[in-house]
Amino acid sequence: MTDALPARLAVIGSGYVGTTVAASFAHVGHHVTAVEIDHHKLRSLRAGRVPFREPGLEALLESGLAAGRLRFTDSTLDAVTEADVVFLCVGAPMGSDGRPDMRMLDSAARSIGSVITDQVVVNKSTIPVGGARWLASIVQDGRPARLRANPVALVSNPEFLREGTATTDFLHPQRVVLGSDDIAIERVAAVYRPILEQSFPGGRPESRPVLVRTSPETAEMVKFASNAFLATKVSFVNEIANICERVGADVGAVSMAMGLDPRIGPRFLEAGIGWGGSCLAKDLKELIATAEQCDYQPELLAAAMAVNGRQRRLVVKKLQERLRVLQGRRICVLGLAFKAGTDDLRDAPAVEILRQLIEKGAFVTAFDPTVRSVPGLADVGLAHDAYQAADEADAVILVTQWPEFLDLDFGKLRSRMRGDLFIDGRNCLDPVKMTLSGFRYECIGGSIGPVATDHERSDAADVGEIDVTDFATTSNGHKGLAPA
Ligand code: NAD
Repeated sequence: MTDALPARLAVIGSGYVGTTVAASFAHVGHHVTAVEIDHHKLRSLRAGRVPFREPGLEALLESGLAAGRLRFTDSTLDAVTEADVVFLCVGAPMGSDGRPDMRMLDSAARSIGSVITDQVVVNKSTIPVGGARWLASIVQDGRPARLRANPVALVSNPEFLREGTATTDFLHPQRVVLGSDDIAIERVAAVYRPILEQSFPGGRPESRPVLVRTSPETAEMVKFASNAFLATKVSFVNEIANICERVGADVGAVSMAMGLDPRIGPRFLEAGIGWGGSCLAKDLKELIATAEQCDYQPELLAAAMAVNGRQRRLVVKKLQERLRVLQGRRICVLGLAFKAGTDDLRDAPAVEILRQLIEKGAFVTAFDPTVRSVPGLADVGLAHDAYQAADEADAVILVTQWPEFLDLDFGKLRSRMRGDLFIDGRNCLDPVKMTLSGFRYECIGGSIGPVATDHERSDAADVGEIDVTDFATTSNGHKGLAPA
């Protein structure tokens, strides 16, 4: 790696990824200028406030601003001119044709091209395989004629952070993947050196990430393949859950026992409503489209998509089977964000479930600890807590596994309702406790209890024997009543 510390970095696009990248690189010692064209976001970031929910990010933002190592601007010109390396973190959301809409990236790449001299451009946006070469040509086209003889150095650097744990994921990754044919890849590796060596304050030198140097296409494919695998793993266990329900098996115990096999592993093996968020569906669809363009039918990936769509309908079907008519019923929905720890509603299962319920004539009241409005669904009442959301409800559906939902007073919740049906879409509650609280409790896949925690798994594995009836414990570690 070449010596380039601290580096001067430009980060283009200050959303979930860009703000995390900018504040984290400032934390490890670099000087970062982040660009954002949305003036509402820009004002908030300059004032040290993160305009979305991301635990831990605000502290990094404040300290970076206070140390003078982080600043925000709306000028790509300013940021790029002063930088050694430029990180592109602009989104490529799914367009109406199901393919990524590359217009924002195209425009950002052109602006970079007009000012770039010898800076390396690093793409962190998830774009179709071949995208890095496409981006390089757009940047190159935008360059002044006198610089066109030197090709622009572009490195593909997929981002694997998860919303809700974004700063930890970025600062302590398992791998950093860099894809380029250009020697400039070493300049980007040098920028990552504090993270690769875990040498910054709070680093974990005992668990250093692996640096993978590869071609741009392979780097891009690593991102798609990783997301496709995670999505398929969840859809797999949901497929098993649906079979379990029909044969009288308990998917909680099945997946817990499966996960003990180190070749399988326990993560992403929890049956429920399925995955959501801005990435999995978008990336899976894109991978399917890429394969089809190359005259290959990716049947497994298409099935993973279909199973996930079915899980969202399944929960409404369960409700309809129990309540018969949904017209005029009051339904309480607990959790809106696509997962706990974020306020992101992009491809959130809850939004689709709300839409289906409203279409069927139900009155819906929802509560989420972070979400304050649901764009496009004015008919949904938003309560200020779970108990208010449950007022006079005929049924409750738990959609997002917020830890605070595990600690609810379920007797009190039940007493506010007129019905007694509780559908646990995340299999995270203790069925016996729910029954004792007066609920008709249903979950996904006939589970007698949630999957055990990693800690309990390792304890149990040490003993060498597991009685699944001991595992009426939530995945957040709350001990419930063991089923009789
Ligand atoms: P986002 O929409 O939250 O952020 C993108 C930001 O870029 C927005 O704030 C937008 O205003 C800004 N922007 C657009 N054009 C700009 C320009 N020309 N100059 C400056 N700013 C501009 O998106 P995100 O969630 O941060 O995702 C960014 C990319 O990273 C996407 O390709 C996504 O697939 C990928 N990714 C996202 C995640 C995630 O969890 N969100 C994880 C890994 C990878």
